[in-house]
Amino acid sequence: MPSDLTDRIARVRERVDHAATAAGRRPADVRLMLATKTQDAETVLAAVAAATELAAVRGDDGPVLIGENRVQELVAKAPALADLVAAGRLDVHMIGSLQRNKINQMLPTVTGLAGVDRLSLAQAVAQRCVRDGRTLDVMVQVNVSGEASKSGAAPSDAADLASAVAALDGLHLTGFMTIGANTSDEAQVRAGFARLREIRDEVVASGAPGTADARELSMGMSTDLELAVAEGATIVRVGTAVFGERPPA
Ligand SMILES: *Cc1c(COP(=O)(O)O)cnc(C)c1O
Repeated sequence: MPSDLTDRIARVRERVDHAATAAGRRPADVRLMLATKTQDAETVLAAVAAATELAAVRGDDGPVLIGENRVQELVAKAPALADLVAAGRLDVHMIGSLQRNKINQMLPTVTGLAGVDRLSLAQAVAQRCVRDGRTLDVMVQVNVSGEASKSGAAPSDAADLASAVAALDGLHLTGFMTIGANTSDEAQVRAGFARLREIRDEVVASGAPGTADARELSMGMSTDLELAVAEGATIVRVGTAVFGERPPA
């Protein structure tokens, strides 16, 4: 299967590059995160190897990015990924909502958390990071579509939440994350992504302590990545287009 994965990752990368160029942006300013939920460790390793190879051909030298949704899965796969993480060749992020009672399990296995949607969660994570003498990269998740099934702070609360998160010792605010509206109305999906960009711009411009690096916009998935890149995505998170359809949850 590895060659299949290589082809699929290359095709996704082409879609991203094309969308970036069409928007007058540099393709290198948009990174690809592999959304690896439900994939076993062997498949994840094969995908990371394929992505690494492709990045080398392109001259991208940063670590490969993967995102996991469930702490239990993250912990199960962590031993297989540890060497790559230690070598700086792989960043493993938790994406999506996190329960407080899973923080301790999650922390040793991740380099970033893109699912901070409330201050109490950020404070609990920050406290443990300080205790462990580390700083964790975090993104604030915003529910731009307002769909009840999605987690994330309300857009009207997001800037205040981000400023509060940015001020916490133990956390390094790197940006914002959202999941696009679940609709075929492209204008509506795009408007949500534009909203996240406006929130980001407002927070960075505020000059509040700790917000200067909050430039990342993690938005866009297999079906809507072009719209997200057009609105400024710096990270797109892709699962299905790389790994195929997942079994229903
Ligand atoms: C599953 C998932 C993705 C990837 O979605 P696809 O549609 O499979 O590309 C991206 N972000 C989050 C938070 C996810 O849970």
